[in-house]
Amino acid sequence: MGTIDDLSSYLDASRSPWHAAGSTAAALLEAGFQPLTAGDDWGEVPDAGFVVSGASVVAFRLAGDATAGTPQASRPTPFRIVGAHTDSPCLRIKPRPDTGQLGWKQLAVEVYGGVLLNSWLDRDLGIAGRVVLQDGSIAGITIDDAVCRIPQLAIHLDRDVNEKGVQLDKQQHLTPVWGTGAPRQGEFREWLAHQLEVDATDVGWWELCLFDRTPAAVLGADNSLLASGRLDNQLSCWAATDAIAGTTAADHHQVIALFDHEEVGSESTTGAAGPLLEHVLERISLARGGTRSAHLAALASSSCLSADNAHAVHPNYAERHEPGHRPIVNQGPALKVNANQRYATSATSAQSFQRACERAGVPWQVFVSRNNMPCGSTIGPITATRLGIETVDVGVPQLSMHSARELCGVEDPIHLAAAAASWLTGP
Ligand code: ZN
Repeated sequence: MGTIDDLSSYLDASRSPWHAAGSTAAALLEAGFQPLTAGDDWGEVPDAGFVVSGASVVAFRLAGDATAGTPQASRPTPFRIVGAHTDSPCLRIKPRPDTGQLGWKQLAVEVYGGVLLNSWLDRDLGIAGRVVLQDGSIAGITIDDAVCRIPQLAIHLDRDVNEKGVQLDKQQHLTPVWGTGAPRQGEFREWLAHQLEVDATDVGWWELCLFDRTPAAVLGADNSLLASGRLDNQLSCWAATDAIAGTTAADHHQVIALFDHEEVGSESTTGAAGPLLEHVLERISLARGGTRSAHLAALASSSCLSADNAHAVHPNYAERHEPGHRPIVNQGPALKVNANQRYATSATSAQSFQRACERAGVPWQVFVSRNNMPCGSTIGPITATRLGIETVDVGVPQLSMHSARELCGVEDPIHLAAAAASWLTGP
């Protein structure tokens, strides 16, 4: 079972969603999972395998010998799934980023997802993501240097900032500085090429995220907290990866699905609303000799644990929480319930998760938002809608969600990993 140091290493190595997918792939390889390519015909599937598609990963551990060789037509083999998302709100470099004025070189950025904008001010920012070269090859890149910064306006020039709050226009006020002098077109491309040790003409297109360079840190006099960027939702990606890497074969197929693009609505080729998971599940059933009818029967008796962080009660804003359903840090993952189906949890799926926690000896709690404060949503309802698989939404309680640097307890990620392993293997 993983430790908080393992999680910190995962977070520090995963400065972009593509790197999160890479961190999971590396852990799976080490655990003996075989890589598959989506474009190949999966005539046979290994006992444990995974496929990476963009910044998404689906990994599986097939049911054990009890069902191997038994035609699925006579015995549909259900799936036990854990889902999470690899992407986090951030700022991304635009295709033509060279800009600036008045002695400053600046980089044009686009806001990705629901960024807590003020949290990106006055941080030393690095750049990570992927670059497509002119020959079609893809280069992952992490530049862990202090490349740029979004300087906050001095209080002397914004006298009532502490009374009125920081007002930031996404187009005008978030453009980082990355040097001094007159900006020149093509400068960023040349700098990027230098980082990649290729010619500037070799650089094609990019998807690049800014990130806060501060590494993950255990915090508090009692070392009970963890501060890091991207806890939402790389924490759950780590827990899912740790869980499936450590299980043994069960009577059902075990699957983890880590999707990109949750923060922008999941509607993409590699998002939860796309066909990625559906296709992998069907390919597993077909490779095991099942019919389409047996596959649909398997789906009908499958279940999904959708893990995405929850809001812990904030000591300075306790009134923002529903008094009877406010998750407390380090008291276990929260079951997220919403009668209006912003979360997919049902009474029966909640019961299944409770049992998984009890088997693992893990505490759990319940989150329901206030009636006058609508909650966010997550991948749970989307996968449930797409696949018709019973789903429960859960998540580790955290503070500062969507900040460049978030905060959670050190015990809850371990609890979630244990609960996920119990979910994957349980009866
Ligand atoms: Zn999330």
